[in-house]
Amino acid sequence: MDISIVIPLYNEDESLPELAAWIKQVADTHQYSYEIIMVDDGSQDDSWKVINELRNKNEHIKGIKFQRNYGKSAALNEGFRSAQGDVIITMDADMQDSPDEIPALYNMIKNEGYDMVSGWKKKRYDNTLTKNIPSKLFNAAARRSSGIKLHDFNCGLKSYKKKLIKSIEVYGEMHRYIPIIAKWAGFKKIGEKVVEHRPRKYGVTKFGWERFVNGFLDLGSIMFVGKFGKRPMHFFGLWGTLAFMIGLIIFLWLTISKFFFDHTGLTQRPLFFFAILAMIMGTQLFLAGFIGELIARNSPDRNNYLVETKMGL
Ligand code: UDP
Ligand code: MG
Repeated sequence: MDISIVIPLYNEDESLPELAAWIKQVADTHQYSYEIIMVDDGSQDDSWKVINELRNKNEHIKGIKFQRNYGKSAALNEGFRSAQGDVIITMDADMQDSPDEIPALYNMIKNEGYDMVSGWKKKRYDNTLTKNIPSKLFNAAARRSSGIKLHDFNCGLKSYKKKLIKSIEVYGEMHRYIPIIAKWAGFKKIGEKVVEHRPRKYGVTKFGWERFVNGFLDLGSIMFVGKFGKRPMHFFGLWGTLAFMIGLIIFLWLTISKFFFDHTGLTQRPLFFFAILAMIMGTQLFLAGFIGELIARNSPDRNNYLVETKMGL
């Protein structure tokens, strides 16, 4: 199979028929063998009914329905598990992403050797204050911390090589960081393509301002887990030891100065409290590292490596 199109959706019954028809038209024109996996993320409207009707007309359409709303990441992850195509394309259900981009995204993976290609909504049709400006900030932070030169990390329209999809896991709200997850998993060729963005035709957006608070917190976790997830002591041990040593040195200095120089009482000086604080914090950090190390040692995927190729085995 050439392409799997994975579509996470939550209360999007109005858009689905139009979207399915458009994808079918594109796929038929290019004669792709394809499947459309619609993942209903616990919709309360008629989305699931609509998906059923669509499948009766087009057996390329497949559906997964969640018992309740788990979020876009969960929906994507479930779709990825079932996808069979050589190239997997994800797309929002609200018709803001154009199916006309499919052939170009497919070619970049299939013929130009990209591991993944992210869409870039260069011209956006969303609210400037609540979406566009926060999104610029967020993308700048993600670019800086991950070193991946993408303009638009969170674009719903992306394409992937099958191997990449099958070797990563998306959970929580981590769908914003799939490029970073892919990079940590060892997939280096991450590309970008300017895509057409359209105003939302039906329904309302499912994400408000709080996504940027969560987004930044998630960026922190993902960078930390990627870097130190398998060796927490290298982070906590370093800063713990440093803080403890600073405290200890100040303490020694205070003691020496009490007996030999100005004879001020130890506890009379503000530095004394700083020294205690630094030593306690240092111990805490060190312990956190130690416990982290014990947890990492017990993690079932402590020895999960992705093998690129093998020889003679
Ligand atoms: N979505 C989902 N589960 C959720 C929230 C959203 O599957 O809990 C889907 C939604 O139906 C849409 C896509 O994720 O297909 C992007 O959502 P939306 O268009 O609301 O985001 P925006 O374009 O406003 O960033
Ligand atoms: Mg949208």
